[in-house]
Amino acid sequence: MNIVFVASEGVPFAKTGGLADVAGALPRAVADLGHSTSLFIPCYRKVWEANRDLAATGITLRIPIGTSTVLGHVFEGRLPDSDVPVYLIDQPDYFDRDGFYGHLGHDFEDNCERFVFFQRAVLEAVVALGIKPDVFHCNDWQTGLLPVYLKSLYHNIPELASAGCLFTIHNLAYQGLFWHWDLPLTGLDWSYFNYRALEFHGKLSFMKAGLVFSDMLTTVSPTYASEIQAQRHGAGLDGLLRDRQADLRGIVNGIDERSWTPRHETMLAANYDVDTVATGKAACKAWLQRRAGLPVRPDAPLFAQIGRLDPQKGWDLLAEVADRLLEHDVQLIVLGTGHPKYHNLLEALVHRHPGKVWAYLGFSDDLAHQIEAGADVFLMPSLFEPCGLNQLYSLAHGTVPVVHATGGLVDTVVDLTPQTLAEGRATGFVFHEPTAASVWRALERVLQTWSDRPTWEKLVKAGMSDDWSWKQSAGRYVELYHEIQRRRRPQLAQPTREKPVPA
Ligand code: ADP
Repeated sequence: MNIVFVASEGVPFAKTGGLADVAGALPRAVADLGHSTSLFIPCYRKVWEANRDLAATGITLRIPIGTSTVLGHVFEGRLPDSDVPVYLIDQPDYFDRDGFYGHLGHDFEDNCERFVFFQRAVLEAVVALGIKPDVFHCNDWQTGLLPVYLKSLYHNIPELASAGCLFTIHNLAYQGLFWHWDLPLTGLDWSYFNYRALEFHGKLSFMKAGLVFSDMLTTVSPTYASEIQAQRHGAGLDGLLRDRQADLRGIVNGIDERSWTPRHETMLAANYDVDTVATGKAACKAWLQRRAGLPVRPDAPLFAQIGRLDPQKGWDLLAEVADRLLEHDVQLIVLGTGHPKYHNLLEALVHRHPGKVWAYLGFSDDLAHQIEAGADVFLMPSLFEPCGLNQLYSLAHGTVPVVHATGGLVDTVVDLTPQTLAEGRATGFVFHEPTAASVWRALERVLQTWSDRPTWEKLVKAGMSDDWSWKQSAGRYVELYHEIQRRRRPQLAQPTREKPVPA
């Protein structure tokens, strides 16, 4: 099969979060199973800064945007250690900016136009490159219109005629909502602007477009797949997702073993595996403590958190328990960037606990790896978490995760109980209520267990022995690509025609 992945970011070219890790790894994992794959992403300023040697394909795109025509070009790179081509859609006015989706906490005002351009450019580039996709694998709102285009403006293009569409929700909270007067930019007519198609409470919703028009849907864990069908985590789309229940699957993300296991990572002070974790982690921990300017203390548990500084990640819960935790003989390292409120909170925490806390308020891929390897405990009290990659990276590094029982965290971390410990399954600490009291009880259990060395070592080794490689999940995606091909009806779905909104 020929699978075309479309995403708004992908490592090693462009990354803000977990989507990039998936988009950089899954096309390779699917290619390893014997299929042709390619990845399309926008060519942001960051891509140019880090990759001077992209090859020009010579393709010039002319994309209708509203009543104008916007030119774009296609550059080509490769996913590392693979033959998987990455096609980068270049349009400097849209993408040569600081930030992918916004700057200094504000979304770009022309995001609708930028990602309309991107999606139409992908379809035009696929045709120009002579790719004949069996399935487009779209990801999140930035690609939600592509399935609509396949069934409307592009449905007569022979190269695209047999292509089905899988849409993966990486985070339902980000929906790509735009005011309705942006609809003309899409080239679609007003009949699509109704509640059974692209309209969501009076706005144009790219996420909803993807959910309505794709052949099948996935999200990144079985628990999140069921959570988003209920009001609490459904972000207003739970009814639609219940309607599409038969087409929705939850597939847990994997770890790209070439870049996220301590055996291979080149930026670590020491490489290690499950047999050498004691000495390997000790070396990485001492290195990290020196890097952070903290006392080199093998005996003090080193807590860590890496991620977007966003309410989703449970920062308000951590804020409530952090001082209490830091009264104990512990250290805390945070790597993150995002909401100014949490920048201030962390700076104040560093100030109140000199020599115990280090916060690096920026983005550093190397440091993310070094923290995963050097820390003892990873804090992940997310209010919701579609899959979560950091807890998987923690497990792979022998760093014990403390997680809220939500989404992919439920599906990947096994709480320490006498029974799970006896069965050798315990890998971390799970708390059930998103309250400070519940987090604190979990942290107390962490502190008690830290002094019980044999139990701690069992947790570390059980986590490191889990297999979260992409192999299994990639196989499940391939099954879905086949299912889409089998199920595809020859007739192309028409949107429900409702009374158009007056122009
Ligand atoms: P999300 O996709 O919701 O942001 P995930 O846990 O799925 O959360 O993935 C986050 C990814 O982004 C991980 O690879 C993590 O290491 C990385 N990351 C997040 N913030 C930073 C940062 N400030 N510096 C380096 N890497 C980061």
